[in-house]
Amino acid sequence: MEIENVKRLLEVNQLKIEKMTSQIMELNDELSNIKLLMLNLERPTLENKENKNEFQDREDEDYSKIGIINNSKTDPNKILPMRYLWAREHYKTGVANNWVPEEIPMQDDVEQWKSDRFLNETERRMIIWNLGFFSTAESLTANNIVLAVYNHVTNPECRQYLLRQAFEEAIHTDTFIYCCDTLGLNPDMIYNMYNTIPSIKEKDNFVIELTKSVFDPNFSTKGKENVRKFLHDLIGYYVIMEGIFFYAGFAMMLALKRQHKMIGIGEQFEFIMRDESIHLAFGCDLINTIKTENPEIWNEEFKNEAIQLIKKAVELEKKYAYDACPQGILGINAEQFCNYVEYIADRRLERIGLLRVYNTENPFPWMSQSTDLSKEKNFFETRVTEYQTAGNLTWD
Ligand code: MN
Ligand code: FE
Repeated sequence: MEIENVKRLLEVNQLKIEKMTSQIMELNDELSNIKLLMLNLERPTLENKENKNEFQDREDEDYSKIGIINNSKTDPNKILPMRYLWAREHYKTGVANNWVPEEIPMQDDVEQWKSDRFLNETERRMIIWNLGFFSTAESLTANNIVLAVYNHVTNPECRQYLLRQAFEEAIHTDTFIYCCDTLGLNPDMIYNMYNTIPSIKEKDNFVIELTKSVFDPNFSTKGKENVRKFLHDLIGYYVIMEGIFFYAGFAMMLALKRQHKMIGIGEQFEFIMRDESIHLAFGCDLINTIKTENPEIWNEEFKNEAIQLIKKAVELEKKYAYDACPQGILGINAEQFCNYVEYIADRRLERIGLLRVYNTENPFPWMSQSTDLSKEKNFFETRVTEYQTAGNLTWD
Protein backbone atom coordinates (compact mmCIF):
# COMPACT_ATOMS: atom_id res chain seq x y z
CA MET A 1 0.00 0.00 0.00
CA GLU A 2 2.67 2.45 1.13
CA ILE A 3 4.75 1.58 -1.91
CA GLU A 4 1.78 2.17 -4.22
CA ASN A 5 1.28 5.63 -2.75
CA VAL A 6 4.91 6.54 -3.15
CA LYS A 7 4.83 5.32 -6.74
CA ARG A 8 1.79 7.43 -7.53
CA LEU A 9 3.40 10.45 -5.92
CA LEU A 10 6.51 9.90 -8.02
CA GLU A 11 4.45 9.67 -11.19
CA VAL A 12 2.58 12.85 -10.41
CA ASN A 13 5.82 14.67 -9.77
CA GLN A 14 7.36 13.29 -12.92
CA LEU A 15 4.44 14.67 -14.93
CA LYS A 16 4.81 18.05 -13.26
CA ILE A 17 8.52 18.10 -14.11
CA GLU A 18 7.80 17.24 -17.75
CA LYS A 19 5.22 20.00 -18.04
CA MET A 20 7.57 22.53 -16.50
CA THR A 21 10.44 21.47 -18.75
CA SER A 22 8.23 22.01 -21.74
CA GLN A 23 7.37 25.51 -20.51
CA ILE A 24 11.02 26.27 -19.86
CA MET A 25 11.81 25.32 -23.46
CA GLU A 26 9.18 27.73 -24.75
CA LEU A 27 10.63 30.49 -22.58
CA ASN A 28 14.08 29.59 -23.90
CA ASP A 29 12.86 30.20 -27.43
CA GLU A 30 11.52 33.57 -26.45
CA LEU A 31 14.80 34.39 -24.75
CA SER A 32 16.76 33.55 -27.92
CA ASN A 33 14.56 35.93 -29.87
CA ILE A 34 15.07 38.69 -27.32
CA LYS A 35 18.84 38.11 -27.32
CA LEU A 36 18.93 38.44 -31.08
CA LEU A 37 16.90 41.63 -30.95
CA MET A 38 19.36 43.03 -28.43
CA LEU A 39 22.38 42.03 -30.52
CA ASN A 40 20.80 43.80 -33.46
CA LEU A 41 20.16 46.90 -31.39
CA GLU A 42 23.79 46.94 -30.34
CA ARG A 43 24.96 46.84 -33.94
CA PRO A 44 27.19 49.75 -34.73
CA THR A 45 25.71 52.10 -37.29
CA LEU A 46 26.98 55.36 -38.71
CA GLU A 47 24.94 57.18 -36.09
CA ASN A 48 26.21 54.98 -33.31
CA LYS A 49 29.96 55.23 -33.50
CA GLU A 50 30.88 54.74 -29.86
CA ASN A 51 30.41 51.00 -30.32
CA LYS A 52 33.17 50.83 -32.87
CA ASN A 53 35.88 49.15 -30.82
CA GLU A 54 34.78 45.65 -31.59
CA PHE A 55 34.82 46.39 -35.29
CA GLN A 56 37.93 48.54 -35.44
CA ASP A 57 39.19 47.45 -38.81
CA ARG A 58 35.87 48.24 -40.41
CA GLU A 59 35.70 51.78 -39.11
CA ASP A 60 35.71 53.45 -42.48
CA GLU A 61 32.89 51.38 -43.82
CA ASP A 62 29.28 52.27 -44.05
CA TYR A 63 27.90 49.94 -41.41
CA SER A 64 24.41 50.13 -42.75
CA LYS A 65 25.66 48.33 -45.84
CA ILE A 66 27.18 45.44 -43.92
CA GLY A 67 24.90 42.45 -43.79
CA ILE A 68 24.94 38.72 -43.29
CA ILE A 69 24.26 38.24 -47.02
CA ASN A 70 25.09 40.44 -50.01
CA ASN A 71 28.05 41.98 -48.31
CA SER A 72 30.83 42.50 -50.80
CA LYS A 73 33.03 43.87 -48.03
CA THR A 74 33.18 40.61 -46.09
CA ASP A 75 36.49 38.82 -46.32
CA PRO A 76 35.39 35.20 -45.85
CA ASN A 77 38.85 34.27 -44.60
CA LYS A 78 38.90 36.74 -41.75
CA ILE A 79 36.87 35.41 -38.85
CA LEU A 80 38.04 37.96 -36.24
CA PRO A 81 36.67 40.32 -35.14
CA MET A 82 33.31 38.60 -34.99
CA ARG A 83 30.02 40.20 -35.62
CA TYR A 84 27.34 37.54 -35.21
CA LEU A 85 28.14 36.08 -31.81
CA TRP A 86 25.10 33.79 -31.86
CA ALA A 87 26.68 31.85 -34.74
CA ARG A 88 29.79 31.33 -32.63
CA GLU A 89 27.67 30.16 -29.69
CA HIS A 90 25.88 27.56 -31.82
CA TYR A 91 29.24 26.35 -33.12
CA LYS A 92 30.55 25.86 -29.57
CA THR A 93 27.40 24.00 -28.49
CA GLY A 94 27.62 21.76 -31.55
CA VAL A 95 31.24 20.86 -30.84
CA ALA A 96 30.48 20.19 -27.17
CA ASN A 97 27.83 17.64 -28.22
CA ASN A 98 30.19 15.42 -30.18
CA TRP A 99 29.15 11.81 -30.69
CA VAL A 100 29.44 8.96 -33.19
CA PRO A 101 26.90 6.18 -33.80
CA GLU A 102 29.29 3.35 -32.98
CA GLU A 103 29.38 4.47 -29.34
CA ILE A 104 25.84 3.22 -28.94
CA PRO A 105 25.51 -0.53 -28.43
CA MET A 106 22.95 -2.20 -30.72
CA GLN A 107 23.06 -5.78 -29.37
CA ASP A 108 19.66 -5.60 -27.63
CA ASP A 109 18.09 -3.95 -30.66
CA VAL A 110 19.38 -6.71 -32.91
CA GLU A 111 17.89 -9.37 -30.61
CA GLN A 112 14.57 -7.54 -30.38
CA TRP A 113 14.45 -7.03 -34.14
CA LYS A 114 15.20 -10.68 -34.91
CA SER A 115 12.75 -12.10 -32.38
CA ASP A 116 9.23 -12.48 -33.74
CA ARG A 117 7.64 -11.96 -30.34
CA PHE A 118 9.11 -8.69 -29.20
CA LEU A 119 7.84 -6.14 -31.70
CA ASN A 120 4.41 -6.13 -33.33
CA GLU A 121 3.74 -5.23 -36.96
CA THR A 122 2.75 -1.65 -36.10
CA GLU A 123 6.03 -1.04 -34.32
CA ARG A 124 8.06 -2.59 -37.12
CA ARG A 125 6.32 -0.47 -39.73
CA MET A 126 6.96 2.66 -37.69
CA ILE A 127 10.68 1.88 -37.37
CA ILE A 128 11.07 1.09 -41.08
CA TRP A 129 9.17 4.22 -42.12
CA ASN A 130 11.36 6.43 -39.97
CA LEU A 131 14.58 4.80 -41.13
CA GLY A 132 13.31 5.24 -44.70
CA PHE A 133 12.54 8.92 -44.23
CA PHE A 134 15.63 9.92 -42.23
CA SER A 135 18.19 7.92 -44.23
CA THR A 136 17.72 10.16 -47.27
CA ALA A 137 16.52 13.34 -45.52
CA GLU A 138 19.91 13.73 -43.83
CA SER A 139 21.67 13.75 -47.22
CA LEU A 140 19.16 16.20 -48.66
CA THR A 141 19.88 18.55 -45.76
CA ALA A 142 23.64 18.15 -46.07
CA ASN A 143 23.49 18.92 -49.80
CA ASN A 144 21.45 22.04 -49.18
CA ILE A 145 23.97 23.37 -46.69
CA VAL A 146 27.02 22.68 -48.82
CA LEU A 147 25.59 23.51 -52.25
CA ALA A 148 23.22 26.36 -51.47
CA VAL A 149 23.48 27.99 -48.04
CA TYR A 150 27.29 28.00 -47.80
CA ASN A 151 27.58 29.74 -51.16
CA HIS A 152 25.42 32.67 -50.20
CA VAL A 153 26.22 33.22 -46.53
CA THR A 154 29.71 34.64 -46.75
CA ASN A 155 30.01 35.76 -43.14
CA PRO A 156 32.95 33.76 -41.69
CA GLU A 157 31.47 32.88 -38.27
CA CYS A 158 28.30 31.63 -39.94
CA ARG A 159 30.41 29.59 -42.33
CA GLN A 160 32.29 28.08 -39.43
CA TYR A 161 28.95 26.95 -38.01
CA LEU A 162 27.82 25.62 -41.41
CA LEU A 163 30.97 23.49 -41.64
CA ARG A 164 30.18 22.06 -38.23
CA GLN A 165 26.58 21.41 -39.23
CA ALA A 166 27.72 19.69 -42.42
CA PHE A 167 29.91 17.41 -40.29
CA GLU A 168 26.95 16.60 -38.03
CA GLU A 169 24.80 15.74 -41.06
CA ALA A 170 27.58 13.34 -42.13
CA ILE A 171 27.38 11.73 -38.67
CA HIS A 172 23.59 11.43 -39.03
CA THR A 173 23.95 9.87 -42.47
CA ASP A 174 26.39 7.45 -40.91
CA THR A 175 23.88 6.62 -38.17
CA PHE A 176 21.47 5.19 -40.71
CA ILE A 177 24.22 3.21 -42.41
CA TYR A 178 25.02 1.79 -38.96
CA CYS A 179 21.35 0.96 -38.25
CA CYS A 180 20.89 -0.75 -41.64
CA ASP A 181 24.08 -2.75 -41.13
CA THR A 182 23.42 -3.89 -37.58
CA LEU A 183 19.77 -4.82 -38.15
CA GLY A 184 20.56 -6.43 -41.50
CA LEU A 185 18.03 -4.34 -43.42
CA ASN A 186 17.88 -4.26 -47.20
CA PRO A 187 19.55 -0.96 -48.15
CA ASP A 188 17.83 -0.85 -51.55
CA MET A 189 14.47 -0.96 -49.86
CA ILE A 190 15.29 1.62 -47.14
CA TYR A 191 17.08 4.09 -49.41
CA ASN A 192 14.35 3.85 -52.02
CA MET A 193 11.48 4.64 -49.71
CA TYR A 194 11.69 8.30 -50.63
CA ASN A 195 10.62 7.21 -54.11
CA THR A 196 8.27 4.37 -53.26
CA ILE A 197 6.35 5.65 -50.20
CA PRO A 198 4.08 8.56 -51.16
CA SER A 199 3.93 10.14 -47.69
CA ILE A 200 7.75 10.34 -47.61
CA LYS A 201 8.08 11.38 -51.23
CA GLU A 202 5.61 14.23 -50.77
CA LYS A 203 7.57 15.69 -47.84
CA ASP A 204 10.88 15.57 -49.71
CA ASN A 205 9.36 16.94 -52.91
CA PHE A 206 7.74 19.79 -51.03
CA VAL A 207 11.09 20.95 -49.66
CA ILE A 208 12.95 20.36 -52.94
CA GLU A 209 10.33 22.30 -54.91
CA LEU A 210 10.40 25.15 -52.41
CA THR A 211 14.17 25.54 -52.67
CA LYS A 212 14.75 24.76 -56.33
CA SER A 213 15.67 28.22 -57.60
CA VAL A 214 18.48 28.55 -55.05
CA PHE A 215 20.21 25.49 -56.52
CA ASP A 216 20.45 27.16 -59.93
CA PRO A 217 24.19 27.81 -60.50
CA ASN A 218 23.32 31.31 -61.71
CA PHE A 219 21.32 32.17 -58.62
CA SER A 220 22.51 35.15 -56.60
CA THR A 221 20.95 36.82 -53.57
CA LYS A 222 21.11 40.26 -55.20
CA GLY A 223 17.81 42.10 -55.22
CA LYS A 224 14.65 41.84 -53.14
CA GLU A 225 13.13 38.95 -55.07
CA ASN A 226 16.23 36.83 -54.70
CA VAL A 227 16.63 37.54 -50.99
CA ARG A 228 13.04 36.29 -50.70
CA LYS A 229 13.91 33.15 -52.64
CA PHE A 230 16.85 32.58 -50.35
CA LEU A 231 14.62 32.98 -47.29
CA HIS A 232 12.30 30.38 -48.83
CA ASP A 233 15.24 28.01 -48.94
CA LEU A 234 16.13 28.69 -45.31
CA ILE A 235 12.52 28.28 -44.17
CA GLY A 236 12.28 25.13 -46.31
CA TYR A 237 15.29 23.39 -44.86
CA TYR A 238 15.69 24.77 -41.37
CA VAL A 239 12.11 25.39 -40.26
CA ILE A 240 10.21 22.82 -42.33
CA MET A 241 12.62 19.94 -42.96
CA GLU A 242 14.65 19.96 -39.75
CA GLY A 243 12.07 21.74 -37.61
CA ILE A 244 8.79 20.02 -38.57
CA PHE A 245 9.37 17.01 -40.86
CA PHE A 246 11.79 15.43 -38.38
CA TYR A 247 9.56 15.69 -35.36
CA ALA A 248 6.79 13.10 -35.80
CA GLY A 249 9.60 10.61 -36.34
CA PHE A 250 11.50 11.80 -33.26
CA ALA A 251 8.35 11.47 -31.15
CA MET A 252 7.66 7.96 -32.46
CA MET A 253 11.14 6.61 -31.93
CA LEU A 254 11.45 8.16 -28.48
CA ALA A 255 8.00 6.90 -27.48
CA LEU A 256 9.18 3.41 -28.40
CA LYS A 257 12.34 3.88 -26.37
CA ARG A 258 10.26 4.91 -23.36
CA GLN A 259 8.67 1.48 -23.60
CA HIS A 260 12.15 -0.06 -23.54
CA LYS A 261 11.95 -1.14 -27.14
CA MET A 262 14.81 -0.60 -29.62
CA ILE A 263 16.70 1.48 -27.08
CA GLY A 264 19.85 1.69 -29.22
CA ILE A 265 18.06 3.23 -32.20
CA GLY A 266 16.05 5.40 -29.79
CA GLU A 267 19.23 6.74 -28.30
CA GLN A 268 20.65 7.49 -31.76
CA PHE A 269 17.48 9.44 -32.52
CA GLU A 270 17.90 11.28 -29.22
CA PHE A 271 21.43 12.34 -30.17
CA ILE A 272 20.25 13.39 -33.63
CA MET A 273 17.38 15.38 -32.12
CA ARG A 274 19.77 17.20 -29.81
CA ASP A 275 21.91 18.18 -32.83
CA GLU A 276 18.87 19.15 -34.87
CA SER A 277 17.61 21.49 -32.17
CA ILE A 278 20.83 23.48 -32.64
CA HIS A 279 20.58 23.38 -36.44
CA LEU A 280 17.10 24.77 -36.07
CA ALA A 281 18.21 27.48 -33.63
CA PHE A 282 21.00 28.56 -36.00
CA GLY A 283 18.60 28.54 -38.96
CA CYS A 284 16.05 30.69 -37.12
CA ASP A 285 18.72 33.16 -35.97
CA LEU A 286 19.96 33.37 -39.56
CA ILE A 287 16.42 33.92 -40.87
CA ASN A 288 15.69 36.54 -38.22
CA THR A 289 18.94 38.37 -38.95
CA ILE A 290 18.24 38.50 -42.69
CA LYS A 291 14.76 39.80 -41.85
CA THR A 292 16.11 42.60 -39.65
CA GLU A 293 18.75 43.55 -42.18
CA ASN A 294 16.30 43.53 -45.10
CA PRO A 295 13.08 44.74 -43.47
CA GLU A 296 11.48 45.58 -46.81
CA ILE A 297 11.18 41.91 -47.81
CA TRP A 298 9.40 40.81 -44.61
CA ASN A 299 6.07 42.35 -45.53
CA GLU A 300 2.55 41.07 -44.86
CA GLU A 301 2.45 39.21 -48.15
CA PHE A 302 5.65 37.32 -47.50
CA LYS A 303 4.73 36.62 -43.88
CA ASN A 304 1.48 35.15 -45.06
CA GLU A 305 3.30 33.04 -47.61
CA ALA A 306 5.59 31.68 -44.89
CA ILE A 307 2.58 30.80 -42.72
CA GLN A 308 0.90 28.99 -45.63
CA LEU A 309 4.06 26.99 -46.31
CA ILE A 310 4.29 25.94 -42.68
CA LYS A 311 0.59 24.99 -42.63
CA LYS A 312 1.06 22.87 -45.74
CA ALA A 313 4.10 21.23 -44.12
CA VAL A 314 2.04 20.40 -41.04
CA GLU A 315 -0.56 18.68 -43.24
CA LEU A 316 2.14 16.61 -44.95
CA GLU A 317 3.72 15.69 -41.63
CA LYS A 318 0.38 14.57 -40.19
CA LYS A 319 -0.22 12.45 -43.27
CA TYR A 320 3.20 10.92 -42.76
CA ALA A 321 2.48 10.26 -39.08
CA TYR A 322 -0.77 8.43 -39.92
CA ASP A 323 0.99 6.44 -42.61
CA ALA A 324 3.96 5.44 -40.44
CA CYS A 325 1.85 4.60 -37.43
CA PRO A 326 -1.83 4.19 -38.35
CA GLN A 327 -2.83 2.38 -35.16
CA GLY A 328 -0.64 4.28 -32.74
CA ILE A 329 1.54 2.47 -30.26
CA LEU A 330 0.86 1.39 -26.69
CA GLY A 331 -0.84 4.29 -24.92
CA ILE A 332 -0.41 6.76 -27.80
CA ASN A 333 -2.78 7.12 -30.73
CA ALA A 334 -1.95 8.46 -34.17
CA GLU A 335 -3.82 11.68 -33.47
CA GLN A 336 -1.50 12.56 -30.60
CA PHE A 337 1.45 12.45 -32.97
CA CYS A 338 -0.47 14.92 -35.15
CA ASN A 339 -1.16 17.17 -32.15
CA TYR A 340 2.52 17.12 -31.39
CA VAL A 341 3.28 18.27 -34.95
CA GLU A 342 0.88 21.22 -34.50
CA TYR A 343 2.43 22.13 -31.16
CA ILE A 344 5.92 22.03 -32.70
CA ALA A 345 4.80 24.13 -35.70
CA ASP A 346 3.45 26.85 -33.39
CA ARG A 347 6.82 27.05 -31.68
CA ARG A 348 8.63 27.33 -35.02
CA LEU A 349 6.25 30.09 -36.16
CA GLU A 350 6.89 32.08 -33.01
CA ARG A 351 10.64 31.55 -33.29
CA ILE A 352 10.67 33.37 -36.64
CA GLY A 353 8.40 36.13 -35.39
CA LEU A 354 5.02 34.88 -36.67
CA LEU A 355 1.86 34.25 -34.69
CA ARG A 356 0.95 30.73 -33.67
CA VAL A 357 -1.75 29.04 -35.72
CA TYR A 358 -2.88 25.96 -33.80
CA ASN A 359 -2.68 26.66 -30.07
CA THR A 360 -2.40 22.93 -29.48
CA GLU A 361 -1.15 21.76 -26.12
CA ASN A 362 2.01 19.65 -26.08
CA PRO A 363 0.79 16.04 -25.83
CA PHE A 364 4.31 14.78 -25.07
CA PRO A 365 5.92 17.04 -22.47
CA TRP A 366 8.54 14.31 -22.05
CA MET A 367 9.90 15.16 -25.51
CA SER A 368 11.44 18.42 -24.35
CA GLN A 369 13.03 16.61 -21.47
CA SER A 370 14.46 14.02 -23.78
CA THR A 371 17.10 16.24 -25.31
CA ASP A 372 16.63 19.89 -24.68
CA LEU A 373 17.56 19.90 -21.03
CA SER A 374 19.80 17.80 -18.87
CA LYS A 375 18.16 14.91 -17.18
CA GLU A 376 19.25 12.21 -14.84
CA LYS A 377 20.19 8.94 -16.38
CA ASN A 378 21.87 5.89 -15.05
CA PHE A 379 25.37 6.38 -16.37
CA PHE A 380 26.07 2.65 -16.34
CA GLU A 381 22.93 1.67 -18.17
CA THR A 382 23.21 4.08 -21.04
CA ARG A 383 25.46 6.88 -22.20
CA VAL A 384 24.13 10.20 -20.99
CA THR A 385 23.02 12.38 -23.88
CA GLU A 386 24.33 15.40 -22.01
CA TYR A 387 27.80 13.91 -21.94
CA GLN A 388 30.24 16.46 -23.27
CA THR A 389 33.78 16.13 -24.47
CA ALA A 390 36.37 16.64 -21.74
CA GLY A 391 37.55 20.03 -22.99
CA ASN A 392 34.09 21.45 -22.47
CA LEU A 393 33.47 20.34 -18.93
CA THR A 394 33.42 22.97 -16.25
CA TRP A 395 34.74 22.09 -12.83
CA ASP A 396 33.27 23.80 -9.87
MN1 MN B 1 20.62 15.89 -39.36
FE1 FE C 1 20.31 18.95 -39.38
